[in-house]
Amino acid sequence: MNSLYFVFLYFLLLMLIQYHGYILFLITGDYFDRYSVKRKFRNNRQSIDTLLNDRFLYYRHLSPPARNRFMARLCKVMGKVSFTGHAGLEVTEEMKICVIFAQIQLTFGMKLFFFERFRRYILYPESFYSRFFNSDLKGLTSGAGFITLSWADFQEGYLVHNDNYNLGLHEMAHALRLELETTRETGLMVQLRSDEMDRRFPEEKELAARGVPGLLREYAYVNDEEFFSVCVEYFFEVPELLKQHKPEIYGLLSRMLNQDPLNRERDYRLSSTA
Ligand SMILES: [Zn+2]
Repeated sequence: MNSLYFVFLYFLLLMLIQYHGYILFLITGDYFDRYSVKRKFRNNRQSIDTLLNDRFLYYRHLSPPARNRFMARLCKVMGKVSFTGHAGLEVTEEMKICVIFAQIQLTFGMKLFFFERFRRYILYPESFYSRFFNSDLKGLTSGAGFITLSWADFQEGYLVHNDNYNLGLHEMAHALRLELETTRETGLMVQLRSDEMDRRFPEEKELAARGVPGLLREYAYVNDEEFFSVCVEYFFEVPELLKQHKPEIYGLLSRMLNQDPLNRERDYRLSSTA
């Protein structure tokens, strides 16, 4: 009887250690507990909130609980990734927060928000030369596990928030697709909808080739990966236009990412009409 009691206590202790963050979250309602965010980020939450509020329209529309969840996710990822500045660029905390913002925005409706595969970020002040492509690039997401960005172009993407160009979201969309190849955490439906986007690509490309007036910029038709990333840019930058011109793609993306950028009143939650 006594040994059974100790076994029970042992397992109770194990459960408490394993799920202490979630138990604290149930008590406090604070997502920083749920994701066990490091102290240095907890202490800076006010300044991070101010920065995000100043820089990002997407964040400004969020309710206080949604902001709490957004920031906790962002800080969790910040604690796990590394940044390197090239060509004389000194990477500041502010730059790191802004880059990770794009990742959290893209995945805000999903369970998956940390990309296991992408722990390295490389920033250049402006566009950079890639030997592999033999040309200057603004962004590059490599399956080898790093994301390279031109900081000037990243900033421009958010500065003008409705011009269909957003380098950060574009590269994060590439990263998400690469992450989906290896992760087991995401539901099957995410993968199925991602595949469905690929199936739409030939049809959309043919329409564009026949000169049917479309919405997406030409770069979308380079291949199915660029198609996905460009659609993601339109999805967040001009959701009204995408929904109006390509309702199937808008519906598919909103179900895959589990968010509706048009639902600004309710934290971009997906409603049955999206
Ligand atoms: Zn691309």
